[in-house]
Amino acid sequence: MAKLIIDRELCTECGECVDQCIYGALSLEDDGLTVDVEKCMLCGACEESCPNEAITIPDKKAVVQADRDSYHGIWIYAEQWEGEINEVAFELLNEGKRLAEKLGEDISAVLIGSGVKDKVAQLSGYGAGRVYLVDHQICKVPEEELYAKILSDLAETYKPKIILFGATALGRTLAPRLAARLGTGLTADCTVLDVDAEKGLLLQTRPAFGGNVMATILCPDVCPQMATVRPKVFSKGDSDAGRTCELITHDAALDRVKTKTRIKRVLPKDSDGEVRLEDAEVVVAGGAGCGSKEGFALVHQLAEALGGTVAATRPPVEEGWVDHGVQVGQTGKVIAPKLYIALGIAGAVQHAIGMQSADMIIAVNKDPDAAIFQLADIGIVGDMFEVVPQLIKQIKEKGLVVPTKQ
Ligand code: FAD
Repeated sequence: MAKLIIDRELCTECGECVDQCIYGALSLEDDGLTVDVEKCMLCGACEESCPNEAITIPDKKAVVQADRDSYHGIWIYAEQWEGEINEVAFELLNEGKRLAEKLGEDISAVLIGSGVKDKVAQLSGYGAGRVYLVDHQICKVPEEELYAKILSDLAETYKPKIILFGATALGRTLAPRLAARLGTGLTADCTVLDVDAEKGLLLQTRPAFGGNVMATILCPDVCPQMATVRPKVFSKGDSDAGRTCELITHDAALDRVKTKTRIKRVLPKDSDGEVRLEDAEVVVAGGAGCGSKEGFALVHQLAEALGGTVAATRPPVEEGWVDHGVQVGQTGKVIAPKLYIALGIAGAVQHAIGMQSADMIIAVNKDPDAAIFQLADIGIVGDMFEVVPQLIKQIKEKGLVVPTKQ
């Protein structure tokens, strides 16, 4: 067992290590620097921070490795709302299965809610070999503080090697809380996942430096390794209703869990009948080329003619022509519709990240060299204010024909 060694001759009691220890394991007492072994995680922050090299952890690497070896399996968090499992859970299961096979590990889902036990079969159908279920009245509404406590209790008990979350509104707040509780790292908004099977490492790739490079991030010293992935980045695969799984019902002593948050009221989502952007099969997107809010109205008109949903690049959002909820791209949504029509959009990499998985892309741009034409299946070089009214006219006169790829 490794331990922290303090060289009293070298230590000047400057307190630098005490400030750096996030676990509060070090203190300056009357008889000098003292370490509380119960609290010390041997993370090495003190060793690195000491200006006099008075602290050493001789076999830290061996301890880290031994600790990592005690973690097993890949978990995906199966987000649900009112008993409906979010599609991103099935997408993560599909990708998680692939990673688990490469690692020689199991794939499990974690389901928390109230009256959700009947959803276990759905998760096993999509590939979960095991489901950890916490089904309790107080979990009815997904509340981050409570759910993070439950998840950390589960993770400390069963020690998963990797935990994946959907980068949904809930996942984006729940995953960091959990990572902080477990003292581990988290990579948000990954667009590619892979594993180094030999080292048991999750390779977490995401855009960095404004999307100009793709960074692959590793978490080599602590477990679990955690990442969030946006909906639609992975496909969900086929369900096999005949597949069964092991069920572990976890009693997290929920009646005694105390949280500071009180939910007073849950408001129903506004719905004007329009299909959610993430679920839309036909999307018409407008960019800065629309020129103004009035110009953007053409995007709405084409979407309406096609029965599609409106989306946008970042400039129309920044200009206030549309809400941020319809922004597609690195800092917006990732979508994979059957048809994506891009009007007055240049095709910047930060936008492409959000729409390049569409089955078919049609672009209208007056610049023949626009990058969007590299992504498009059909490119129309022209002024959208001339092309789109003609398109709408044709659709209305001749009926709707949504092209699909063979
Ligand atoms: P422009 O680049 O201005 O292109 C307008 C296009 O319209 C041009 O190609 C032009 O030829 C064409 N055009 C002009 N008039 C007409 C006309 N009458 N008819 C036809 N074509 C016409 N962007 C996003 O979209 N989503 C994101 O999530 C996102 N996140 C970002 C995150 C970071 C960290 C950074 C740095 C940037 C991000 N961006 C994002 C911004 C991104 O880099 C681009 O600036 C943005 O996508 C450009 O939008 P655009 O194509 O609408 O505008």
